[in-house]
Amino acid sequence: MTEAKRFPPGATIGMMGGGQLGRMFAMAARRMGYRIHTFSPEPDGPAAQVSDRATVADYNDETAVRRFAGKIDLITFEFENIPTETIEWAARECVVRPRGEILHIAQNRLREKEFLASSGSPVAPFRRVGSESSLTSALKAIGRPAILKGAAFGYDGKGQQRIDSSDDAAVIWAAREDEECVLEGVVEFEKELSVIVARGLYGETAIFPVCENIHREHILDVTLAPARVAPAVAAAASELASAVAEKLALIGLLAVEMFLRSDGQLIINELAPRPHNSGHWTIEGCATSQFEQHVRAVCGMPLGATDLLRPSAMVNLLGDIWKGGEPNWSAALAEQNVRLHIYGKHEPRARRKMGHLSALANTVEAAAAAALRARARLG
Ligand code: AMP
Repeated sequence: MTEAKRFPPGATIGMMGGGQLGRMFAMAARRMGYRIHTFSPEPDGPAAQVSDRATVADYNDETAVRRFAGKIDLITFEFENIPTETIEWAARECVVRPRGEILHIAQNRLREKEFLASSGSPVAPFRRVGSESSLTSALKAIGRPAILKGAAFGYDGKGQQRIDSSDDAAVIWAAREDEECVLEGVVEFEKELSVIVARGLYGETAIFPVCENIHREHILDVTLAPARVAPAVAAAASELASAVAEKLALIGLLAVEMFLRSDGQLIINELAPRPHNSGHWTIEGCATSQFEQHVRAVCGMPLGATDLLRPSAMVNLLGDIWKGGEPNWSAALAEQNVRLHIYGKHEPRARRKMGHLSALANTVEAAAAAALRARARLG
């Protein structure tokens, strides 16, 4: 079912995936009068805690998926790694936005890179690798250093490996568990940027201010918005992101991660057809948050304004912060103008995203300093 249908407040939105993105989506949607029914294999997860109803079942359970989809008006996603079959089952029962083909592209790095390259978007040189010999020939073609990434189910740098001049391709391939990988040239970047764009039912788009992202150990650590780049770079980044949304014929939200090279050229690294960690600051810092915009886009409602209200920053809170016991929340909250978001995850494991802090100030530097000070005070 793909008809150009509008779903006004009062409709029931099904959310596949039960993490923090689903949680913040559900909070925005419920404020607007929508009902939220989540589907996730995990009981009492971040999204289920704030939803009207929660189905706990496996994505491969056809009966459960069809029963769920039969009870809701439309379905959307908080992450792209949902099996294609699951989406096909759901699509027989209700409207699915964004459409399954878009998730299919975004859930595999090779398909994603091939889509981007074939539609003329700038990507790092890449080759498909499925054996030791194809790794050897890909290394010859791309040169070293290069980065080997598993093609499927990758996020936060999982399954990534840098290959330098002294590394032995045979040893590297023997240690890999992935059947299919992508070898990419290393991009010498000056900055990492992301652009979140919403595209509505009639092809209208709304682009959020460009974000500047700082990663630590491959995980997003700090986002500054707006990015500290020349206006021409920001305009080019926005243009690239909206062109990708257009080429995908997206109805929904799309985050486009990019590298900015020192010569000013932008290279697209990854796509995520959903809200994105680098857009959390929009809850406080933008006229419309990325979560409300996702709701509006998939429900076929008019898109909201994406004006920046004030320079903003976001810092992630990973499970590592709990190492010495419960963090000192009151010390962090003593930092004025800093907002705390906690996702309701039960186990604070290392590297796990447990929450974030965001801050608004007169400059992005001052906003980041406030958020970082608050995080340091957590102990
Ligand atoms: P990814 O899992 O592809 O999002 O990569 C996680 C992080 O690894 C990125 O945000 C970059 O900091 C780094 N990275 C990934 N691919 C490349 C590349 N081709 N060149 C340089 N750095 C990269």
